[in-house]
Amino acid sequence: MGIGLLAEQDKIAPFEVFTSERLNTPVYDPGERSEETQTFIIAQQSFRQLMGWTKGLRNAAGDELIIQSGYIERMTPNAVADRYQGVHYIGMHQALLVSCMEFALFALTQSCVFPNVGNAAGEASPELKNGKAPGILLLDKTLRGETVQIDQDHWRIPKDENRHVLAVYLAMLMARYIWLHELAHCTNGHVAYVQNAGLALRLYEVAEELSVVGFKPKADTDKQRDKIIRQLEYDADSSAFFGLCQIQLNDLENIDGIKALDIVTRLGMSIFAAYAVTWLFEEYQAFLDLKNDPSHPTPYDRLQHLARGAANEIAPKVDGFAEFHQSICDQFNAMAIPGLYQVGKAAPMDSEREFELHAIKSAMDKWRFY
Ligand SMILES: [Zn+2]
Repeated sequence: MGIGLLAEQDKIAPFEVFTSERLNTPVYDPGERSEETQTFIIAQQSFRQLMGWTKGLRNAAGDELIIQSGYIERMTPNAVADRYQGVHYIGMHQALLVSCMEFALFALTQSCVFPNVGNAAGEASPELKNGKAPGILLLDKTLRGETVQIDQDHWRIPKDENRHVLAVYLAMLMARYIWLHELAHCTNGHVAYVQNAGLALRLYEVAEELSVVGFKPKADTDKQRDKIIRQLEYDADSSAFFGLCQIQLNDLENIDGIKALDIVTRLGMSIFAAYAVTWLFEEYQAFLDLKNDPSHPTPYDRLQHLARGAANEIAPKVDGFAEFHQSICDQFNAMAIPGLYQVGKAAPMDSEREFELHAIKSAMDKWRFY
């Protein structure tokens, strides 16, 4: 290793320096591996290895892409992509993975979800209680300082041991989808673009400034900004979704337990995970009273965008995919969650949006890493 490279490495602030200096929040370190922390640890290790392909990528200006990733100790469900002192940082709030875990466990209590795994028919398929969606209940209790009571809350956990394990894998895939989405904000040049154009300091998944959202009338420039950022979100969703599928289709899975599953289950879980995360963001917005955040597409639009991508881009490459995808959508749609969106019945993309998406993609080329 040359001295030049060492000097270069010295400039890279560790993730915890980024979170404290830039975000004023502590890093979340899952610590030793235990039943409680393994999802955090394995999801992160897996992602860091999978993103190895980004090493050495450069943009048109010759800047090298350097990325640091980690968890942030915050009890709001969010994820962030930022660039600070020339280094890209992607972070997931601790609460986001906690709520993915809760959602995944609930999903596997439903007999309709992955019916070929374990004793699906023996699951109770409970309906939601207390009006709190899976993924929100735990968060709500934590924010109110309550603890989860196992005897009261066991109905949200699958009875079958194999399905319980599958839920843990599903949560890891949900985390992977979030990491890949944030990674796309970096590799596709979104973060550098919004910073250089003065549109945003960084990209969050859920608006952080609670006080301004939905109150003041939007100026035209803000509307234009929101429109651009919405397209970036669609673009990051697409990249993350295809990445998630490609990992299975190209046999790149690096979590042993998931790798041991058959391809139909692995691919189905990956698609299900992307849809579940997208749905969860709808629940977060409702929970945080952010229904009208105009800088992000509605979760419903994002879900249909993903399903359209599956039909248009993946189906032609994989035999029998359309029917398989429909079966995953049917499983998702049949969960006992009031108000759950119906996926897989998407109308074709309207030409105006398609045009906008392409316009943004070409503007991004200057910032993209390749
Ligand atoms: Zn995003």
